[in-house]
Amino acid sequence: MVRDLPEQRLFAPHGAGLQDQYGRRVDYLRLSVTDRCDLRCSYCRPHDSLAYAEPRNWLTFAEIGRVVGVFARLGVARVRLTGGEPLLRRNLPDLVSMLAALPGVDDLSLSTNATRLARFAPTLKRAGLARINVSLDSLDRECVRKVSGRDSLDAIMDGIMAGKAAGLTPIKLNMVAMRGVNEHEIERMAAFSLENGFILRLIEAMPVGDMGRDAGYLSLDAARAKLVERFALEPCTATLGGGPAVYWQTADGRGQIGFITPISRHFCATCNRVRLSVEGTLYLCLGQEQRCELRPLLRDKASDAELEAAIRAAIELKPQRHDFLAAPEKIMRFMSQTGG
Ligand code: SF4
Repeated sequence: MVRDLPEQRLFAPHGAGLQDQYGRRVDYLRLSVTDRCDLRCSYCRPHDSLAYAEPRNWLTFAEIGRVVGVFARLGVARVRLTGGEPLLRRNLPDLVSMLAALPGVDDLSLSTNATRLARFAPTLKRAGLARINVSLDSLDRECVRKVSGRDSLDAIMDGIMAGKAAGLTPIKLNMVAMRGVNEHEIERMAAFSLENGFILRLIEAMPVGDMGRDAGYLSLDAARAKLVERFALEPCTATLGGGPAVYWQTADGRGQIGFITPISRHFCATCNRVRLSVEGTLYLCLGQEQRCELRPLLRDKASDAELEAAIRAAIELKPQRHDFLAAPEKIMRFMSQTGG
């Protein structure tokens, strides 16, 4: 432990940043604020699972603020609020305004299933939220019911339109493309997104948890070729966000479609992110088990310098890449326990 080191010696000047042993700069924190969800998506959490974190183990808003503050001082300027479904966390707008006010947090966004967004969108915008990503795997009511475990299409669409009206833009629609489930819907989703000014991102299913393994992996190579041809897409010239998506755009540059391909074309060599679970577990990689427990430090009243030292030491453990192909059975936790 580095308990005795004077504070200022530890804090690198803003922007010097966190770098792992492979030279990758970590500047993006995905922060899970709950592992609860009102949906049961087929690639995420088993319908009957009751394995939830104990609320007493959830990081409080004050603890989250401390951790994000330290990360921000280390150059982690992008923060994505995730879950489970983050809008289930009570008083979430209060957390948003706290994090949005932190020096160094330049991009605060939210990943949501949008079933509650119609109620919260204006408040979140006023609180300082910049933009949203919405999980939407189909436009077909029955397909959505089958994938999400609930007849949720109307609520999701109301949420998306409320997010747009509130100015939480650009709105990205995340579609997990699954063989024999919704692959027939890809072109329709692309057309809908381009017509409405949304950015569709197609995502390959990952073997995270049993549900992820049984989701019906579909390589996006064929879908990309079809969409490029149908919509005359060309490689995107603009940078759209800090994540792993590879974007293509329409000839006029007004429409974009992104492809997230962790299996067919992995992007681990440029990985810039880590994940903090609702219980304060820092996961260094979605596809590996290396982690660091920050909650005991927080509850033990560790100083910011000690938190920083723990985070720096953890980043040194960040794995080079996932083993999704070599060892698909490796990751047992559900996607909603890590926050995606
Ligand atoms: S699998 Fe791990 S190393 Fe690869 S991109 Fe995801 S988090 Fe980064």
